Amino acid sequence: MDQKTIVDLAYIAASVLFIYGIKMLGSANTAQRGNLISSIGMLIAVVATLFRGGMDYTWIIAGIVIGAGIGAFAAKKVQMTGMPELVALFNGFGGLSSLLVGWAEVAKNPEFTPPEGVSGYSPTFTAFAVVFAILIGGITFTGSMIAYLKLSGKMGGSATVFPGQKIINALVFAALLVFGAIFVFTHAGWALYTVIGLSLLLGVLGVIPIGGGDMPVVISFLNSFSGIAASAAGFVILNNVLIVAGCLVGASGLILTIIMCKAMNRTLGNVLFGGFGASSGGQDVEGEMKAMTPEDAYYVLEAAQNVVFVPGYGMAVAQAQHAVKELGDILEANGCEIRHAIHPVAGRMPGHMNVLLAEADVAYEQLCEMDEVNDMIEMADVAIVIGANDVVNPAAIEDESSSIYGMPIINVHKAKSVFVLKRGQGKGFSGLVNTLFFRENCRMIYGDAKDTITNLVTQFKD
Ligand code: NDP
Repeated sequence: MDQKTIVDLAYIAASVLFIYGIKMLGSANTAQRGNLISSIGMLIAVVATLFRGGMDYTWIIAGIVIGAGIGAFAAKKVQMTGMPELVALFNGFGGLSSLLVGWAEVAKNPEFTPPEGVSGYSPTFTAFAVVFAILIGGITFTGSMIAYLKLSGKMGGSATVFPGQKIINALVFAALLVFGAIFVFTHAGWALYTVIGLSLLLGVLGVIPIGGGDMPVVISFLNSFSGIAASAAGFVILNNVLIVAGCLVGASGLILTIIMCKAMNRTLGNVLFGGFGASSGGQDVEGEMKAMTPEDAYYVLEAAQNVVFVPGYGMAVAQAQHAVKELGDILEANGCEIRHAIHPVAGRMPGHMNVLLAEADVAYEQLCEMDEVNDMIEMADVAIVIGANDVVNPAAIEDESSSIYGMPIINVHKAKSVFVLKRGQGKGFSGLVNTLFFRENCRMIYGDAKDTITNLVTQFKD
C-alpha cells in the first residue's frame, strides 16, 4: 500500500469518527464519549497529515507546543461562566488560521502553477477558494474578537447602532465581492490585501450592532463560519479531511444557531440586524412583588411533595449548582419528587444549565425538557426559580406587545407556589419586567442564589 493510500484511508477513518462523535453529542449520556471519539478522529487526521511529509517539522512542533500549552492553560483556568468567551476565542483563531492558510498559499505560489502530480487543477477555482477562506476567515476572526470583548465585559455589552450602519455594511460587503472577483481573475496581490483588510473590517462592523446577550447565537453562527472557512482552506491546499471537518462544523454550527433562534422566537436576521439590547424596555405591571425569607421558604419546602427547580443565568453567576444538587438530594430524602426543568436558552450558551448540573452530578433522569415539565407543572407544590428571568416570564405568552412575545417559556406561574431566587430587582437579558414576580403565588427570596440555597440546606440539616 503506498503512502498516499494510507493517508487517504486514515482521513476516511477520521471523518467517520467525527460523524459518530457529533452524533453522540446529541445526548447528555453519550456526550463525553462522543467528544473523546471525535478527538481521536482529529488525532488520526493530524498524525496522517504529518506522515504525508514534505513539511518543516521544527515549525510544526513549535506550533503544537505553544498552541497546546495555551489551549490547556485556558481550558483549565476558565470558569463555567467564561465558557462562551473561550469558545469565541477558539472560533476566532480558527477563522484566522483559514485566512493565513489562504494567504500563505498565494505567497507560496503567486502564479497558481498546478502542483506536481495533481490533475484537474484550476487556478481560477483555487483563487476563488483562497478569497472565500480569507473572506469568511477574516470576518470570523474580528467578529469573534468583538464577541469575546463583549462577553468578557472588556467592551460595553449593549448594541452599538448608528445611522446608515446597514448601508455602510452592505457597501463594505459589495466592495469585498468586487475586489475578490478582481483577485480571482487577475491574481493581483493588492486586490487580495484589500480583501483581507475589508473582511477584518466587516467582522467588526457586523458584530458591534449585536447586544452582548445575543453573543452566544453570534458565536454559534461564527463557529459555523469558521467551519466553512476551514473547508475553503481545505480546497486551497487540497486536503480532504479539512474539507470534511470544515463542512461538519459549518453544518452543525448552523443547525445549532437555528435551534437557538427558534427557542428565542427570533429570526437569525433579527439577531444579526435587529439591534436587540440597544435599549431596555420597561412596562407597568399591576400588583406588587412579595418578599419571603429563606426561613419561611424552608417550612413550605419541608412539606412539599413535588418540587421543580428552574435554573437560569443567575445560577451560573452564583455557581450555585452544587448547592442545588445538595438541596435536591435532601428534598428527595424527605420524600419529595424532584425535577430540574431546563429551558433551551436558559443561561448564556446552548446547554449551559445541562453542563452546570452535570458538573454537580445531578442525575440525568432528573433533567426535564421544557415541554415535558410544562405538562406536569400544575402538580408542582413549589417551582424554585434560581436566577432565571426571561425563560419564566409569562409576558412571552400573554402580552402581544412584549419584545419576547412568542418565546416558549417554562410555565412556572402555573405551579402552586413559585419561589424566585435573585439578588434584587435586576432584569434579565431582554431588559423586560417579569410579570411572574407580581403574581399572587410568587414569592421573591432576595440574595445570591448560592447563599440562599446554602441557607436552606443548613436549615434542613439543623
Ligand atoms: P436572564 O438573563 O433572563 O436572567 C438572569 C437573572 O439572574 C437576572 O434577573 C438576575 O437578577 C439573576 N441573577 C444574576 N446573578 C445572580 C446571583 N448571583 N444570584 C441570584 N440571581 C442572580 O436569564 P435566563 O436564563 O432566564 O434567560 C436567558 C436569556 O438569555 C434569554 O432571554 C435568552 O433568550 C438569552 N440568551 C440565551 C442564550 C443561550 O444560548 N442560552 C443565547 C443568547 C441569549 P438580579 O440581578 O436581580 O440578581
